[in-house]
Amino acid sequence: MIERLLNKKVYKLRILTTTKCNCRCSYCFVEKKDEFADYDVLEKGVRFLVDSAGDKKLLTLYGGEPLFAYENVQRVIPFAREYAIKKQKRLVMAFVSNSLLLKEEHLRFLQKQGVHYITSLIGSKKYHDEKRRPVDGKSSYDAVAEKVPLIQKYTKVEEAGVCFCVFPDQIEALFDNFKHVLSLGFRNLNMEPILDYKPWTKREDEIFLAHCKKIIVELFASIKRRDFIYLRPISLELAYNKLSDKFASSCLFNFGCVLYPDGSLVMTPWVPKETHAVANLLKDEVYRFADCCFPESGGLCKDCTGHYFPRWSDKQKQLMAHRVYMIYHKFCLEAANLIRKKAKTDPLYKEYLGKVLAHT
Ligand code: SF4
Ligand code: SF4
Repeated sequence: MIERLLNKKVYKLRILTTTKCNCRCSYCFVEKKDEFADYDVLEKGVRFLVDSAGDKKLLTLYGGEPLFAYENVQRVIPFAREYAIKKQKRLVMAFVSNSLLLKEEHLRFLQKQGVHYITSLIGSKKYHDEKRRPVDGKSSYDAVAEKVPLIQKYTKVEEAGVCFCVFPDQIEALFDNFKHVLSLGFRNLNMEPILDYKPWTKREDEIFLAHCKKIIVELFASIKRRDFIYLRPISLELAYNKLSDKFASSCLFNFGCVLYPDGSLVMTPWVPKETHAVANLLKDEVYRFADCCFPESGGLCKDCTGHYFPRWSDKQKQLMAHRVYMIYHKFCLEAANLIRKKAKTDPLYKEYLGKVLAHT
């Protein structure tokens, strides 16, 4: 049955290895039911990603806290690497953790397997601890800061990423938090405005816009200094055309797939798997989009998103930060196009582009 989805170009699959977590972050959308994906689910997820159409693949292992599922993680990573080689696909893997349980042996293993390590970090202690809440009541910032030298010892600077979440109620501090993360030595930031948490008003959108401009200016200055800063949407555009595809309305499968521990496959974490599962990889069942085929000419077929996503009310639209995402992604697309253009004549931009393509 799953074969009926393999004509889709799935660039990226996010797997929730477990929903167990040692934090209760105020904005978290993961229901902490302490479920664990059986190894079978992980392997089926890898096969689905690698066997789907397209040659470049991204696999992200997250949770909950995926270090609780470390035994299975240790098994599935080498499997994924070998399977991609066998199928002649390029596979980049990332492990996303809150770093609280992180030990040297984990990083040694991930380094050996060529897996990127992504830690959650919101900014300086005050802002980070306000949102990131370990169950033991201790400071999450202190725990992460303590692990930073270890992360940087075992992970290349381009492959040591930060999940840099942005909140409307901390928006005034965005640029300072960005500088703070850089001051700790990180250069690869996945800056993500947080959805479905608190409303993004017009005022917050505008502050975000102003800070975002400063961040992108800083990224260009970093290229001139040859101390390269990477911003995830820009890197994904340079390596996968993600944003240009998005604005041209690409197939839902390209970047949206999320696999839950019970084998349910959905197109975004923001819809319930109980009502919006596209398939169940464990049960080998397909519920939607079997055999449909994205037209070469582009453009969404069959009004697919309109039928799949719920109709958000105006209140929900504010929570989903639609406008802020549009602004952010348009900026990033413009920045990526400028980098492409400059890379044709400027050796520093060419080097930057080369690094993005090699590490994304
Ligand atoms: S560490 Fe991640 S999964 Fe755990 S509560 Fe925080 S946001 Fe949720
Ligand atoms: S109908 Fe939707 S899921 Fe199917 S190919 Fe078109 S865009 Fe992709």
